[in-house]
Amino acid sequence: MKKIVTMVVLLALLISCLCACGKDEDDIHDYEKVGKYEDDDKNPPTAGPDDIVSPEPLGTTGTPTPTFAPKQYVIVLDPGHGGKDPGASYDGRVEAKLNLQLANMIRDYITSNYSNVTVILTREDNVELDPDKGTDLRARVGVGVTNHADIVVSLHLNASNNHKQHGSMVCISKQKNITDQSKKLADCILKRLEDLGLTNNGTLKRDSLDTFDDDGVPVDYYAICRHGASNNLISIIVESCFIDSDGDAVHLKTEDALREMAEAESKGIMEFLTKYYTHGEG
Ligand SMILES: [Zn+2]
Repeated sequence: MKKIVTMVVLLALLISCLCACGKDEDDIHDYEKVGKYEDDDKNPPTAGPDDIVSPEPLGTTGTPTPTFAPKQYVIVLDPGHGGKDPGASYDGRVEAKLNLQLANMIRDYITSNYSNVTVILTREDNVELDPDKGTDLRARVGVGVTNHADIVVSLHLNASNNHKQHGSMVCISKQKNITDQSKKLADCILKRLEDLGLTNNGTLKRDSLDTFDDDGVPVDYYAICRHGASNNLISIIVESCFIDSDGDAVHLKTEDALREMAEAESKGIMEFLTKYYTHGEG
């Protein structure tokens, strides 16, 4: 029964959510694009090699080489949107900017409190990685692939058309190779956000309605999750809260509150890595 209720809640959220950011189809609030690939309608990903974000071999001319000293864990944080794409906006709050602030705070917290972790951001400024949305999203996961990341966490804020939705949600891949570990990571983060007083709306696996793998099974709708799965990389989208919810906005309005949320997410991430992370081992 609980499962059914959860599904109904998720479905209601999915239907009622609004994308305030036009073409960004990697947000949960992009309800208008259901059934379409968000990143490249002309070139829908297939199970073929084009769908794989392959890191260039290190040492090849022109290949970006990781600049960090290898440590035990590598976390890639992806502040969603940026550049010409501000994401959702409400009451003076702009998602792209808040996502970047949050990412910086998470990096600061983790690198200050743990010595065995490297944290890399996909963007450090208000920029996109590529003017083409599909290429941009692929490149964000590509940062994780190139740097041999353990996890990619794409940071977003949700928005709804009636401005009444609230709470946290995490989108994860449905692909067998990473779905269980993705769910664990998501639950660790969601639990910490719940402890801050945010409603836990759970995890969402979203199917493409028009693109299927070789076995006829729909692939992941969200590019961040899909490209992660293609590269055997845990890659999730965290919708920390709703940018247009008066209740949730208390977590966004001041730097202290934002930092508190960043610390909660940092602890969730590290709890996963230190207690539950087994992916890629053995
Ligand atoms: Zn977003």
